[in-house]
Amino acid sequence: MTLSAFLLASPFLLAPQTGPRHDVLTAAELAARSGIGRLEADGSWSLAPGERAVLAVTAPQPFRSFGAFWRGGFAAATTRLVRNDGSTSPVSPLVRNDDLTAGARGPGAAAPTGAIVGALHHGYGGDSHAVVLTVTGPARLRDLALVWVPGAGEGARRPAPPPFPGAAGYPKPFVYDRGSWGADPPQCGYSYWSVDHVAIHHTASASEYWSTSWSECAANVKATQSYHMYVNGWCDIGYHYLVCVHGDLFEGRGGGDDVVGAHDAYNLGSMAISCMGYFHPPYSQTLTPAMEDAIAELGAWKCDQKGIDPLGASWYDGYGGVVANVYGHRDVRSTSCPGDQAYARLDAIRQAIAARLNGGGGQVVLDTDQLHLLGAWSLGSSSSDKYGPDYRWTSTGTGSRLVAWWEPDVPSAGWYDVYLWWPQGWNRNPQTLVGARTPSGLTTTTVDQQHDGGRWNLIGTWWLPQGRLSKVGVANDGPAGWVVVADALRLVKR
Ligand SMILES: [Zn+2]
Ligand SMILES: [Zn+2]
Repeated sequence: MTLSAFLLASPFLLAPQTGPRHDVLTAAELAARSGIGRLEADGSWSLAPGERAVLAVTAPQPFRSFGAFWRGGFAAATTRLVRNDGSTSPVSPLVRNDDLTAGARGPGAAAPTGAIVGALHHGYGGDSHAVVLTVTGPARLRDLALVWVPGAGEGARRPAPPPFPGAAGYPKPFVYDRGSWGADPPQCGYSYWSVDHVAIHHTASASEYWSTSWSECAANVKATQSYHMYVNGWCDIGYHYLVCVHGDLFEGRGGGDDVVGAHDAYNLGSMAISCMGYFHPPYSQTLTPAMEDAIAELGAWKCDQKGIDPLGASWYDGYGGVVANVYGHRDVRSTSCPGDQAYARLDAIRQAIAARLNGGGGQVVLDTDQLHLLGAWSLGSSSSDKYGPDYRWTSTGTGSRLVAWWEPDVPSAGWYDVYLWWPQGWNRNPQTLVGARTPSGLTTTTVDQQHDGGRWNLIGTWWLPQGRLSKVGVANDGPAGWVVVADALRLVKR
């Protein structure tokens, strides 16, 4: 069958399997299927420099994500997924995932000891039924196993952020928990070791960076867990946290604080954050500002909780040596992880963590000129305790609700203390309705505008997503006879 005929072949209609499966192609099968290369005396299949083999392989079950492990090596390889509707995914490099290759295999591992484990390629826009694999020589392979990881679907619903968890220490940023991505339970017990280092990794999966939605990212995390548990036989997903291109943080391994992960082959005393993408050539994806911000938030929380100096170095128990407290995988092992582009940002990330712990989280201030108005609000300027040159005011008891609100352009997702400024006065409403609409809903409270004028007043702490997705405002609800004022808004990142 020609390649194009193969691409158009109808998908088969097997009942979906629940777990990943793999097929091992021996050297002889690699030679027969590709029709190129030679069988060597040592039982391996070889390609000369520049020789290129193309293999189209149909999967035994529909799959969303594709992985591979092999014994031997090659100059380069790529994969392209063939979807059930006949369309194909973009080409993604098949590269070794050092985090998986270096780690010890657990019981029931599909990959034998010594095999190289490749990064996942996730398909978007529907399940796939085949893969087109190209291998460029020089190559020498004893065998190559193709791993088919079924999707749990991309139907996971994005949960709303919970209420602010409290003010003790630097707050933990909002993390999508295991329930949100449909984690499987671990297949063995967890062990614990107090964390004093934060490790930065990448997943080496270029396709993860191409995700366009939260639910795709959640499905990618689920596939990663399946792959770690099935191919390497690990108890659970190896990383403690994963951060997607949108800056969303996902809980990885279960078990809570200080659970021992599986990520840099040492593991004791380090908390692993993995950046979802491929941060060195040939793709050289770069950490988005949202990713860096999420890492800094998570790092600030952990460094504060554990008394870790983000700019310092200390003894790393698992490694048996002194390592930067916030380190990249390549600092402790010969690996490209977390990729040149991510590694180059490590110092900026350390500084960002330090800045947060020193109270430099950043703030946004919006004055009267940024207000959106519903109904008639007068412009005032006579109060001396106003913020800026003027403010808006209206009266209560108008029959319908009048609202003045801001739509701040939040620079990065996170917990924000939200403050309002008003000029006070004897005629102000002592129970002025104020509130915020965030992705978790509308929250309101009342403030006494007869008092506390001329300063910032905290009205609440909310998780605000990046961008203009939240509103903070003042309303004229209440019995007739009072004046309500909208003057300025301030957001301060926790
Ligand atoms: Zn790594
Ligand atoms: Zn995402």
